[in-house]
Amino acid sequence: MDTKPYIQDSAAGEFFSRLAEGKFQTTRCRACGETHYPPRVLCPRCLGEDLEWVDLPREGTLLAFTWQEAAIRCIKPDVLGLVELEGVGNIFTRIDAPYESLRIGQRVSFSPWTSPDGLALHQFRPVD
Ligand SMILES: [Zn+2]
Repeated sequence: MDTKPYIQDSAAGEFFSRLAEGKFQTTRCRACGETHYPPRVLCPRCLGEDLEWVDLPREGTLLAFTWQEAAIRCIKPDVLGLVELEGVGNIFTRIDAPYESLRIGQRVSFSPWTSPDGLALHQFRPVD
């Protein structure tokens, strides 16, 4: 079984390598200051190539969520959500909480997660 995520480009590959080291980071353009998520190899705002890696916010707001019988890495059941990271954008991620306990607008925080097949991924869980 292939345990590697689908990698679109070198920035995506670097994102997952950093995630495996516990770093939750993305790219920022040194020329215009724009922070991108997902990370980029080229700034979509000014087309600059001088990018640096910066920390993503580790807390965000739950915008939407759903429950799927079979989802990321085939764990059943799985709760998935869209989380707003202020100043960056939205991230589609696993949510580490029972579906019934969640509500739109609640604060959630980043938590590293390793899938049963050994892949380092991200998830968020409600802030107490
Ligand atoms: Zn730029």
